[in-house]
Amino acid sequence: MSDELIAKIDKAHKVVCDLCSGKRKWIMSIPAQPNDDPDLIIGESLREARAEIISLHSRVEELEAGDRSTYCAYCGQSFPADASDSAELVGEHILACEKHPIFQLRQQVAALEDRNLDYDVKCTKLRNELIAAESRATTAEAQVKELIEAGNEMSRQASYSRWIPEQWAELVAKIGGKQ
Ligand SMILES: [Zn+2]
Repeated sequence: MSDELIAKIDKAHKVVCDLCSGKRKWIMSIPAQPNDDPDLIIGESLREARAEIISLHSRVEELEAGDRSTYCAYCGQSFPADASDSAELVGEHILACEKHPIFQLRQQVAALEDRNLDYDVKCTKLRNELIAAESRATTAEAQVKELIEAGNEMSRQASYSRWIPEQWAELVAKIGGKQ
């Protein structure tokens, strides 16, 4: 409350005392004399005191409401602490508040998830390449086995071709010998 208003109230009080004790008369001047007419002095102090009371009362309500509110320690936004959706509002704010550490952590996690996705894609590509390489190796091994088989078969045929004429000559010699 301002000193000026207190002085006006004190003056109004003195005017009332003076009126009661007969030191002052109830005068309503024409034109009005705001500094001298008792009705104006008393009326103005009452009006201003009323406005001050209303203002102080609403400030008290604000302060009391402040005690029932909570706020974000990082950006200062306040929330009613006793509303049915208070927890929800605070929770939503924490996730959206750019000054809250959780916001930064979520961004870091998102970046890591992106990188992880990248690694997954690369891993899948490498795995597919490995499977293809294994398949080519298996095919190559089978071809080598076929070639070895073919080589063995050719050697066998080659030894038959050597064997058969030798045996044949021996047989012929034996037959010739008997004859
Ligand atoms: Zn915040």
